[in-house]
This record gives sequence, C-alpha cells and structure tokens, in this order.
Amino acid sequence: MTDPVPTLFRGGRIFDGRRFAPETDLRVADGRIVELGGRLPVLLGEQVVDLAGRWLLPGLVDCHVHFREPGLVRKEGYATGSAGALHGGVTSVLEIQNNPPLMETRQLLERKIESLRGVSRVDFAPYGSLTLASLPHLPEIAPRVAAVKCFLGCSTGAGGVETEAEMRRLFSGAAGAGVKIVAHCEDNRVRARAPPPAPPGRAARHALRGRVGAKVESVRDAIRVAEQIGAVLHLFPLSPAEGGRLVAAAAAAGQAVTGTTAPHYLLVTHEDAIRAPENRFKVNPSIKSAANGEVLRRLLADGALQGVGTDHAPHPLAEKARPYSKAPSGFPSIDLLLPLLVAVHDRHGLPLERALEAVTRAPAEEFGLHRKGRLETGADADLVIADPDLRRQVDEAALPSKSKWSPYHGWELRAFPQRVFLRGVEVFRDGRVVGAARGEPLC
Ligand SMILES: [Zn+2]
Repeated sequence: MTDPVPTLFRGGRIFDGRRFAPETDLRVADGRIVELGGRLPVLLGEQVVDLAGRWLLPGLVDCHVHFREPGLVRKEGYATGSAGALHGGVTSVLEIQNNPPLMETRQLLERKIESLRGVSRVDFAPYGSLTLASLPHLPEIAPRVAAVKCFLGCSTGAGGVETEAEMRRLFSGAAGAGVKIVAHCEDNRVRARAPPPAPPGRAARHALRGRVGAKVESVRDAIRVAEQIGAVLHLFPLSPAEGGRLVAAAAAAGQAVTGTTAPHYLLVTHEDAIRAPENRFKVNPSIKSAANGEVLRRLLADGALQGVGTDHAPHPLAEKARPYSKAPSGFPSIDLLLPLLVAVHDRHGLPLERALEAVTRAPAEEFGLHRKGRLETGADADLVIADPDLRRQVDEAALPSKSKWSPYHGWELRAFPQRVFLRGVEVFRDGRVVGAARGEPLC
C-alpha cells in the first residue's frame, strides 16, 4: 500500500473546520497534520503542493449515507458509493444499513467491517441497528459504533418502531449500553390518521400536511421519551421546521438532543420537487416549502442544528420512474456534497464558514471522530483541494456512485473537489479515484 509522502501544502486558503485562516501553510507527515503556520520552510525530502489560492479543506464527514452493502449492492455498494464520496469531498462516512441484514449483533457488524477493507475508498463506520433483536447485544455492539440507528416508522426499510412502549424499551437499552441513538422520525400511528396518500403521479401532494404533522409529533415523542429515560438522541434528517425548533428548544433546556438536516431540505422547494421528472426528488421525509427551508437554514446558521448529512439513498432510475405511489424514496447525492453546501451559501446566504463547518468539524464532533473534520496538529491528513471559482454544470453520467442519475443534473455548481487525500495519500484527482481502496474503520 502506498505510504504517505511528507508534503507541504502552501499558498492557499486553509479552512480549519471552523474558519478560513489566511496565509497559512500546512505540513503533513505519516498521514497526520504535523504543523500549521505562515511561510513554513520546505524540509528535506518533502514534496510541495502549490495551492495557488485554492481552498484546502478537511475531508468532509457525511454522517448519513446508505451504501446498501451487504444485501442490495445492485443499488449501491461501498466501491461505488465511496468513489462518489470522494467526488463530493467526503473522506469519512457514517453509514446506515437499512436493508437486511441489519447490524443487530457484534458478529454481523464485525463481518461487515472486515468485508469492506480493501473495498471502501473512504474511512467508514456502520451504525449499529437498534431493534428488539439487537437489544441483548447492545453492550458488545456499543464499542464498535458511533451510534445505534433506530427507525421510528417503517417507510424506509426494515426494523421500524411501532409503539411508544417499544420505543421506551429500545431507548432504555441504548442508554444502558451508553450509546447514542440516531433516529429517523416518522410515526405510523399518526400516519395512519393522516389524509389518504396522493394518487399515483400526483407528486404535488407529497408534502402532505398530515405527514408533516406526523413527523413533528414523532420528533416530539422521541425527545420526550429520551428525556424521561436519559438517552442521548440525534435526529435526522430533519425536514419540517417545527421538528428543528423542537430539537433546538430541548437542547436549550439542557437535554442531550441534537439534529442534522440534509442538503435538499436547504436547497430545494416542494415546487421544485413536483417539477422534477421521474419522482427524482421523492424522499422521506418529503421536501417542504421555501419558508420551511428558510427556518432550517436559520437553525443551522445559529448552531441549533449541528450539521448536514446527505441521506445518500440510491435507487435505479427505472424504479424511481414508476407511478408516484410505487416509486421508492431517496436519491443519490454524496457525489455533490461540497458543491451543494457552497450552493446553500451562494443561493441562500448561509454563512460560508458555517456551511463548511456543517459537513466537517460539526459532524465529526457530534459523533466523536476526534481526528476528522478539522485541520489542526495531530488530525488525520484528510484533505480536499477545491477551486472556489471553478463552476460547472452537474453531469449525472459522470458521477462515480452507482446510479448514474442525479436530481441535481444540469445544476450549475462550484467548488468541486480537484484533489483529495486520505491520511496523507492522494486518493482522488480531476474527477477520478486514484490508487487502491484504503478506507479504514472509524470506530
Ligand atoms: Zn436515511
């Protein structure tokens, strides 16, 4: 395997995970960042990368992806998904297995982790699955995961929670094992009372008011149960503004609850989603109004929401093009994470440094990845070089992840990553992966 070459990065704008530091050089040795400072001298045997005014960023951390391996590799796998990640500037993924086999025992988790060595091009950590079946195994699972994933509702896959009593058992188990819970919140009981679903082909009604209510109610329930039990809870992807406000209010009151949202809720409106062909923006939770997006951006700007994860959830386009009610929810997006966050700044005024922090330092801190998401001495040399002035149109056929379609096809974006380094070794250059897959487990 390629050893990292001692490297001095100079002449660019360095973003340390929180802010841009002008006129700073960065030195890498043995895969770690060893020095930062103005006008560092070149050492013997060191290669120099001239950034020529471009950005140098920490590798992005995507805390919410579905790579569907094992079990559904025809839709996505780590080889393709992690190549897409590098295209989007992502060097660490926290991944949710929401197709069988769920990560319900330590053995299943270890088997999955071992199977991904030599396959994943980015560092990775599958979440454990929080289900009734995994409850007895949580103490063994906890040390190998950043969190355990709970499906509050069955709409996106197997293992959904049906009742509040079940939620209490699951949350108690996680609290007892000392492990954080990440949860998608939907509520089948409330959804059952919601208005009837839209007729086939009627995407216009996908932002069902009843479903918004259901989602908010399930966020409220999850926060209340977590507080009573003393569980540490992270909710994602937050779509309705009211859900975001509930998280913010609970956190302000001192509860251990946090949340992240996804790029589409910040960039796309319900009207955009209706116009998209082949149900491309059909996703769960659904995309809401422009005003809803505005509130989410404000919560993100204030730090009330911690960050952004893609919810990269690929399906073949032929499946997405089915009649609306039969089309699966979710779409690929990890290939574009950095340009999409810059677009939230460009189009909607989210402060640039906050937009970048939301996909670097913020998720790394949230999930305890202390060597990731930051450019500081001792951190892993996961680095992204991007030219902020380089604009181009998204060409879905050129994206490395499996689907070869994108709801963002044709969008003009900027700041596409040009070179990416993982622990000091170049792994992506000019749109293509470089060298062997060298992703390592994060936990
Ligand atoms: Zn998801």
